[in-house]
Amino acid sequence: MATSKDKIGFIGLGIMGAPMAANLIKAGFSLVVFNRTKSKADSLVKSGAEFANSPAEVAKKCKFVITMLTDSPDVQQVILGESGVLEGIQENSIVIDMSTISPTITKEINGELNKKNASLLDAPVSGGSWGAIEGTLSIMVGGSENDFQNCIHLFEAMGKNIIHTGGSGMGQTTKLVNQILVAGTMNAVAEALVFAAKSGADLEKTIQAVGGGAAASWQLNTLGPKLINGDFDPGFMIKLQQKDLRLVIELAQELNVSIPGTSLVSQLFAGLLAQGLGDEGTQALVKAHEQLSNHEARI
Ligand code: NAP
Repeated sequence: MATSKDKIGFIGLGIMGAPMAANLIKAGFSLVVFNRTKSKADSLVKSGAEFANSPAEVAKKCKFVITMLTDSPDVQQVILGESGVLEGIQENSIVIDMSTISPTITKEINGELNKKNASLLDAPVSGGSWGAIEGTLSIMVGGSENDFQNCIHLFEAMGKNIIHTGGSGMGQTTKLVNQILVAGTMNAVAEALVFAAKSGADLEKTIQAVGGGAAASWQLNTLGPKLINGDFDPGFMIKLQQKDLRLVIELAQELNVSIPGTSLVSQLFAGLLAQGLGDEGTQALVKAHEQLSNHEARI
């Protein structure tokens, strides 16, 4: 089991990874970190983390290695590529990938690690950059029960709702379920608020009224007020949401599952990406509905 005596590797210090790594330090763990852009590690190094020169070096020094990267090819490169984690891996190591990537590629990477008597937990998160900073992320974990229990103290330092959902790849599959729900709900909120605005309704009172009943949701109650105030700063960027919907659509095709609602939302996001809005938050989905109905939902 990972305890504060173990050195923990952390690779990928972006919006999510940097605060998650900081929470591990706060919880008493010693960190060895790597980031492609070295400067992003500066504040963690000031807090006592050691900087390694490659993912392989991180793995040589740590039996627990966390990755928090962008997409499936990035995780493949960092774990399986040149100077990657696999090159330096020790027997009985556990790699914990907390990025959101393909469940199929997750299982392939686990297979490669197994050949060296190591293993992968897939542990994607929900809760956004705020949850990463506060240490309140929801963490959905796939892999063996034994590996999950061995890493529980690490998860507890970064999150609150920590659920082992099944074998390898099942954490990523659970995260894709989460993304179907958040994208569909965001779409309903955007559509409903344009409908309310063009009907002449008071948008603040509408959110107050319906946000306290059966239609309440995090998207309505948190992102709704931002949207009507024209605040499109990202908690979660459209380009990352679209990457996750691509993963949903790929898995649905593999499984022969029909996902008409999610496909529609993905097409609306595609239109916003074409307009150069990929760095805006997902609440900017309202802009697609505003264009369709030729009416703004703003106070
Ligand atoms: P981010 O700020 O863009 O960070 C991505 C990190 O991955 C950076 O450290 C980047 O290094 C590194 N990276 C990417 N490709 C790499 C490669 N090929 N080789 C080496 N390093 C590479 O993204 P983020 O918001 O932290 O998101 C990370 C993951 O969490 C994504 O899978 C995302 O979908 C998921 N997620 C995000 C949120 C959110 O609200 N942001 C919420 C839940 C889940 P550089 O610094 O050198 O670019």
